[in-house]
Amino acid sequence: MTAILTGGPSLDQQRRVRTEVPGPRSRELAARRAAALPAGLTSSAGVYVAAAGGGVVVDVDGNSFIDLGSGIAVTTVGNAAPAVVSRAMAQLPLYTHTCFLATPYEPYIEVAETLNRITPGDHEKRTALFNTGAEAVENAVKYARAATGRSAVVVFDHAFHGRSLLTMTMTAKNQPYKHGFGPFAPEVYRAPMAYPYRWPSGPEHCADEAFSQFAQLVDAQLGADAVACVVVEPIQGEGGFIVPADGFLRSVAAFCRDRGILLVADEVQTGIARTGSWFASDHEGLVPDLLVTAKGLAGGLPLAAVTGRADVMDAAHPGGIGGTYSGNPVACAAALGVFEEIETADLLSRARVIGDVMARELTDIARRTGVIGEIRGRGAMMAIELVVPGSRDPHRDAVAALTRHCLDNGVLTLTAGTFGNVLRFLPPLTISDALLVEAFDVLRDGFSTL
Ligand SMILES: *Cc1c(COP(=O)(O)O)cnc(C)c1O
Repeated sequence: MTAILTGGPSLDQQRRVRTEVPGPRSRELAARRAAALPAGLTSSAGVYVAAAGGGVVVDVDGNSFIDLGSGIAVTTVGNAAPAVVSRAMAQLPLYTHTCFLATPYEPYIEVAETLNRITPGDHEKRTALFNTGAEAVENAVKYARAATGRSAVVVFDHAFHGRSLLTMTMTAKNQPYKHGFGPFAPEVYRAPMAYPYRWPSGPEHCADEAFSQFAQLVDAQLGADAVACVVVEPIQGEGGFIVPADGFLRSVAAFCRDRGILLVADEVQTGIARTGSWFASDHEGLVPDLLVTAKGLAGGLPLAAVTGRADVMDAAHPGGIGGTYSGNPVACAAALGVFEEIETADLLSRARVIGDVMARELTDIARRTGVIGEIRGRGAMMAIELVVPGSRDPHRDAVAALTRHCLDNGVLTLTAGTFGNVLRFLPPLTISDALLVEAFDVLRDGFSTL
């Protein structure tokens, strides 16, 4: 085996399977893992990573996989991207941590300034940094409660907001996220999502009916003056890349504005160039009061943010918000590298082109099979919902078979969906068209084996 010394874009950009998958080295690590890690901590692909970059992930057996997952929408600018690596490396020998609550530093401020500039709306904004998506969503709720003096939080069917106690409560799906982990946090209420493909009376009624059910929940059941915030993913991620019916989010936003309810956009998965604009909210003309980012923000170093209206963010009392590691300087330096990569390589346009390629490939595949119920998403965030042909019954077995086929043939994919029947595609924006098309050729072959 040739030694692989470095990842990033200089990594050989090819698909290559030279052992069974997982290979012998990965299987050794799996055995060590089984003896050292708890069983509930699982990995979807059993291959262990040696290096990654551009559009590939290379494993410890020398297999090279085309990456359609980006570590769940995290390495949007490519794994070990040059500006991320160089800025993090320049930061490391200066200081690794001081705690921003004790001894602050400039990179944090620079990340906040950038997020204040690129998030939707030209009103005055403030940004606070955290470590994870869940932590940032929790803090968005704290800001909303402090600013409104109200306690109720409204979320939607199919939502995913994290695994901490509050965000697990806000998450819709029982298995695997909630089962056995209750009791849950109080004051969390759930409204239907405007999910066109599965709307009972048909997609043409979806936006209006979903909005009216949401409005009834807030006005008739909760009382608008009890509701601090509505938290919504502008495109639902784990729920299966559900793009809300057009108009739904704008109606919700206007309704909230009328009633002094704060709108929180959870852009943890959709944010930072993934959908072909900085934020998915931009496509809807949505200007949320608070916007949460995490996954794509720092190239994989733990960093998350709440960016919001200055008056809302200033409502929390001094010392009320923070965390030991929140806004770690190395993670901030990495985030500045992410912004640099996106701006210098015009990755917003690249995300749109990747979206077009994926839509074209998936449309072609769908013509040859009855298993694809819907193709949906935006930019470099596309998914297919798989159904039993001639029905809308979720086809989980097909997802499992396709995922396995792709892995065996050198393509990493991810699943999603409340019913476990969605394949989602989140390639790094540094993937070449050739690799992308090759990955979908592998997927196409997978359909012919079903
Ligand atoms: C992943 C995700 C979260 C949780 O982020 P973590 O960093 O895993 O805590 C929250 N919201 C959305 C929309 C996500 O996709």
